Amino acid sequence: MSKFQPIEFYKNKTHSYELLPLRFEALDDQSYVVTNMAGEYLTLPRDKLSKLVKHQLTSSDPDYINLRARHFLVDDKTSIAKDLLAIKLRTKYSNLSEFTGLHIFVVSLRCEHSCPYCQVSRASDDKVAFDMSKEVADKSLDLALKAPAQNIKIEFQGGEPLLNFPLIKYIVERAESLRGTKNIGYVIATNLALINDQVLEFCKQHKIQISTSLDGPKDLHNHNRPRKGSNSYEKAIEGIASTRRYLGKYSVSALMTTTKASLGRVKEIIDEYVEREFGGIFLRPLSPYGFALKTKTYAAYDAEKWHEFFVEGLEYIIELNRRGKEFREFYAATILSKMLTSTEPGYVDLMSPAGIGIGAVVYNYDGKVFASDESRMLAEMGENKFQIGHVLKDTYEQIFLSDALLDPIEESFAYSVPMCTDCAFESYCGADPVFHYGIYKDFVGRKPDSEFCNRNMKIFKYLIKRMEEDSFVKQLFTDWAQPNA
Ligand code: SF4
Repeated sequence: MSKFQPIEFYKNKTHSYELLPLRFEALDDQSYVVTNMAGEYLTLPRDKLSKLVKHQLTSSDPDYINLRARHFLVDDKTSIAKDLLAIKLRTKYSNLSEFTGLHIFVVSLRCEHSCPYCQVSRASDDKVAFDMSKEVADKSLDLALKAPAQNIKIEFQGGEPLLNFPLIKYIVERAESLRGTKNIGYVIATNLALINDQVLEFCKQHKIQISTSLDGPKDLHNHNRPRKGSNSYEKAIEGIASTRRYLGKYSVSALMTTTKASLGRVKEIIDEYVEREFGGIFLRPLSPYGFALKTKTYAAYDAEKWHEFFVEGLEYIIELNRRGKEFREFYAATILSKMLTSTEPGYVDLMSPAGIGIGAVVYNYDGKVFASDESRMLAEMGENKFQIGHVLKDTYEQIFLSDALLDPIEESFAYSVPMCTDCAFESYCGADPVFHYGIYKDFVGRKPDSEFCNRNMKIFKYLIKRMEEDSFVKQLFTDWAQPNA
């Protein structure tokens, strides 16, 4: 007897198949995106989707094969499909046991810039009352080293953290002596106005990375980021150059913030990043916190305008790549790695369960512990909902098992939130209870009204459509999705 089934066995057979959990969403009038529990997706014409869910697809249909290979359906040939899907899902959530990766130390709230969109309500630069003390630093570091994560990052923020550089030195040296087997990376988030040889020498000794702000060309940057002397841009550019001289080309990264003045100038902003030899840009909208709300900067443009800005920028970046210039957009790259790989990039805003406390935690200058950077910004506006403890009063267990942390994580888990639970993009999206609490005063918000939902859903659809219609874009986005690429 032949080891093979006769050819009739495979021909146009209408299989009885079982559907695995799937969700779908219209991309346009004709086509739908279908996703499974692990976040794999396929696009299907409307009539195919209809046939699929009515169990009318035949096994010879090319989409049938694809749907089976990607674990949207099982039949008698796929006995291990459910196990494979379960493994993929477990892999997606495997980072949860490796918490907390990012520990933010707010070593000073002082700053010598006065940016109207600043998300922390800065104190002027002569008030040492807004500096972290050694006692708070010691306790904060003890907590950071208790995190289960083997690899942690300590990021120094402000205000302007270099206004309290002696404390940064103290924390790094103490962390090195106490770290045991943990791997620790260090980042200083600075506007670079105060960087000097002494700071850079120390950064070199301890492999400290620099993260800075660059909002675009000189006039735009100086408009967005005022300081005495109106030379924020010049300081940033000099600082980037000297950091690279000391620490190497890839030692400094930059972040931009989109203000009303940035709208219509996205190509110039990207050109500035290309000229400064950055490998990419993170086109990010304003957050509804701190001075951005107080000064009404946040209300200066709506989600629709930001989306136009983002799409114009992304199309320009695609064109740069088409012409041979390697350059990427980091927000899209983060989403694409969730769409196209089984890795979880760990970007706090796009995590579900929410990344607060799990992905990042903040030790404030005054000893208060916040669930995320945005949480402390909310606190600077008088809303302490996400203060999860105090380093001088609470133990590690009291902080990380507090209701203040666990309640928002549990309540905002997208898989069980109205609308998200049925959303085809849930695997790519995040919970972001801090954003929703800041605006709607609950951890979930009403998704049809949520700017977070609106903004992300548009981007998810846009990225998928672009990959479907252009093979160059598909290959480019696949490259961006690779971890550490
Ligand atoms: S927030 Fe919106 S886009 Fe995100 S999972 Fe929920 S419904 Fe979908």
